[in-house]
Amino acid sequence: MPDAARMKETVQAAIDSVSEDLRALSLDIHSHPELNYEEEHAHRILTEYLEQQGFEVERGAYGMATAFSARSGSGSPTIALLSEYDALPGIGHACGHNLIAISGVAAALGLKEALADGEGTVVLLGSPAEEGGGGKIEMIDAGAFEGIDAAMMLHPSPGDGAWMSMNAIQALKVEFFGRNAHAAALPWQGLNALDALVHAYNGIALLRQQMTPDSRVHGVITSGGEKPNIIPDYTAADFYVRAKDDAILDDLKQRVLACFEAAAMATGCRVETEWVGHAYSNLTSNDVMAEAYVDNMGRLGKALPSKQQSLAFGGASTDMGNVSHVVPSIHPTFGIHTREGNHTAGFTGAAATPEAHAETIVASKALAMTAVDLFTEPKLLTLAKDEFEAAHPAS
Ligand SMILES: [Zn+2]
Ligand SMILES: [Zn+2]
Repeated sequence: MPDAARMKETVQAAIDSVSEDLRALSLDIHSHPELNYEEEHAHRILTEYLEQQGFEVERGAYGMATAFSARSGSGSPTIALLSEYDALPGIGHACGHNLIAISGVAAALGLKEALADGEGTVVLLGSPAEEGGGGKIEMIDAGAFEGIDAAMMLHPSPGDGAWMSMNAIQALKVEFFGRNAHAAALPWQGLNALDALVHAYNGIALLRQQMTPDSRVHGVITSGGEKPNIIPDYTAADFYVRAKDDAILDDLKQRVLACFEAAAMATGCRVETEWVGHAYSNLTSNDVMAEAYVDNMGRLGKALPSKQQSLAFGGASTDMGNVSHVVPSIHPTFGIHTREGNHTAGFTGAAATPEAHAETIVASKALAMTAVDLFTEPKLLTLAKDEFEAAHPAS
């Protein structure tokens, strides 16, 4: 039987020994921000490094040019770690995915050193396009999680937590088609596509009172007309619809669509709507694994907030949600010494600091130590799986 305490010491020493390498990778990715499915640079430097470190690397995995897998060890169980490395338009690594990239590498390297032959397998999955592309959903469909016993990843945030409330989401593209007219001389001859969009926007604002408290609907007008003296014959908008779980999301999506259809009817315009890309599922963090992570963070000197405190924050979404519906999963957050939220320029700056790197290293150790718990205590993995089966009876 492997010795968990010894393995956890090995994990920590191994991660410390590559901290400078990881810092260089992190800053390299941070200074080369790449959008959804365009993460060629990050994919290249991460896979080169993992290969140097002795992992069995598959580039362009699961039918995506910028996905990869890096495998080490043998036997069961098989634990997946996930890295992300995509950035946001205009504000670079404002979600700190450069830190997620190296956290997966750190935890995988620590486990590689700690696991003897036959004690288990670790697979690092490089997952593209978290910011709207749904790379992990493509990976699920391509079979990446078949044979995986549990999955885990980290995410930087303003605060620490083993749990996080993450909503189901789908994006909606809307277009209204009306008829031009001179806005002052003959306005009655027009069908005002901007009125239609404003009407729908207000309809959604009224709908908010009837939504569950954790639901979110938010949008931007991407085309609002050309000139004040022309009744707009075309307008367009992008909206996101989010809810606590997939069933509530399905219901809310229909109610949001009704706002657009009602606005079209009221203004005489025609509406076209399209649900864009993959729907992300809500995150269902595995309590057994999350509690083990809390315990391991405690061993590293960090007290984490309770489940209840952690779940009080949220509203955002992740394609790790879909993974959490396929295998027992956790997605803990770690604070990087900023009060600015994710998706701000302030967060981009914070994601490059030495303090953020130090926090990434600590959280990566705790994540790898949690995997050690699953590798060394078969009963714990059984409990995690039992909890997962109870929460996902259809799967
Ligand atoms: Zn983000
Ligand atoms: Zn993110």
